[in-house]
Amino acid sequence: MGLSRRSFLQRTAAGAGAAAVLRFPLELLASPEPQRAQSPGGAIKINSNENAYGPLPAGLKAMQDSVTASNRYPDFSYRALTSQIAAWNKIKPEQVLLGVGSSEIIRICALAFATPGKNVVTASPTFEFLGQFAKAMGAEVREVPLTSSYAHDLDGMLQRTDANTSVIYICNCNNPTASVTPDGDITTFLNKVPASALVVIDEAYHHFSMGMPGYATFMEAAGDRVIVLRTFSKIYGMAGMRLGYGVTSPAMVKKLRSYAVPININVAANAGGIASLQADDEMKVAAQRNAADRAEFTKQAASRKATTIPSYANFAMIKTGQPAKEVMAGFEKQGVLIGRPFPPMLEWVRVTFGLPDEMKAFWAAWDELKLS
Ligand code: PLP
Repeated sequence: MGLSRRSFLQRTAAGAGAAAVLRFPLELLASPEPQRAQSPGGAIKINSNENAYGPLPAGLKAMQDSVTASNRYPDFSYRALTSQIAAWNKIKPEQVLLGVGSSEIIRICALAFATPGKNVVTASPTFEFLGQFAKAMGAEVREVPLTSSYAHDLDGMLQRTDANTSVIYICNCNNPTASVTPDGDITTFLNKVPASALVVIDEAYHHFSMGMPGYATFMEAAGDRVIVLRTFSKIYGMAGMRLGYGVTSPAMVKKLRSYAVPININVAANAGGIASLQADDEMKVAAQRNAADRAEFTKQAASRKATTIPSYANFAMIKTGQPAKEVMAGFEKQGVLIGRPFPPMLEWVRVTFGLPDEMKAFWAAWDELKLS
């Protein structure tokens, strides 16, 4: 018998919250927005690697408090936020470039360097934004498949690098596979790569990978040839606020900043970012909670004999053996949104770790769809 999302949620705590949201009297709004499939309410959204638990409490409070000052521009120099980022990462404030999400920093790198006649080298599959922006800019995009252990094939990437390579993108841990590229291999790669190429090391999931075997941050390598990216969208639960940053040399910050929108960070993101960085204890709780959620996901997958890639992040890839598009549609019918097809891994899906009740709904849908 099919287990509908409604009947499942009625038996869970998530259901209580979702039902309250569903009862919101939309007719009272002058021009109601269409219902969005976004938690709370709507479908269970475990498809975008967000933090299902919300912002850190300190970040949330600071954002709420900041809104009263939204008639004013933020401090143009973002001195407090930049200093906080610098202190947290043990780097200089002049090395920090703020962005509207780390997506803006990726876009800026493409604007500055991925010009016609140049090429950029990325893995496949990986986070696609650099490739997309580079294509839009008229640069060639060279994709190098991951290795059999889902690491970046750094030798292969080096072979595809030439005098016209302007950007090389390393996503560590990698989205969508949540897999790590060993730190020693990246160090060797950085020593071999031509100085003419900027290496972008995207550490969006850093806080979830910290301390795990084979993972290390490359913050110390940040300089003229290396930019390290971080985001507040993941562990800090601020995806909707749009805040990220890149760390590179002061000279490169100056060059890249000229491509950014002036005064790009809004007052709430600014305040939330500062408070979140000051709340290390809360961040550590979030990391521990994610580690427990990750272990539970692996356990549930193993009990169903499903194949997963060991995850260094707040999501994992799981093999379904069926076309991802059809599997996604099957889950959606059960009220669960999961990650999309990532060619060439078309029989895998990407699942973000949601709240425990949301994951129960995911596994109930998995069993219902008889995926293993
Ligand atoms: N880099 C990676 C690897 C990501 O997975 C994401 C978002 O999912 C981003 C960058 C973009 O993050 P932001 O929300 O900071 O733009």
